[in-house]
Amino acid sequence: MKYVDTAIVFQEIPDEVTMAVNISNCPIHCEGCHSPYLQSDTGITLDQKAIDDILAPYKDAITCVCLMGGDAEPQEVAELAAYIRSAYPSLRTAWYSGRQQPSEELMDHKYYDYVKVGPYIKAQGPLNSPTTNQRLYRIYPDNSRTDLTSWFWQRRG
Ligand code: SF4
Repeated sequence: MKYVDTAIVFQEIPDEVTMAVNISNCPIHCEGCHSPYLQSDTGITLDQKAIDDILAPYKDAITCVCLMGGDAEPQEVAELAAYIRSAYPSLRTAWYSGRQQPSEELMDHKYYDYVKVGPYIKAQGPLNSPTTNQRLYRIYPDNSRTDLTSWFWQRRG
């Protein structure tokens, strides 16, 4: 599994300062993909050391780490999230999946505080469109979920 780049973002996860890690080799191939460069198997190996290197300068300035993509190797993404949980317990963890229904076993609080599901479907729009097929869930320690998607609709414009 490889990543191409990272960014600190404010609009991907509600009320979090998030380090987004953009994973390549995306197998979803959405028509109108916002980041076609993520569809090829390119970039830098994403493992525990890479996470440590990415987070070292920023770990006190962020509140969340979001693994963006990785649907070709979702178990590997989850294991990396579990590592972030154990090594950086003050940070919340998130996963942006392009699948509408990732494995239930992976939508587990032992890996993630937040999971976004769904491919980009142009006719339905992205997360900030009220007609979107995509959903962002908050996952609680008992594995109950809240659908937070409407948070994005209030920030259109
Ligand atoms: S899931 Fe994201 S990166 Fe993958 S093809 Fe769709 S829009 Fe592009």
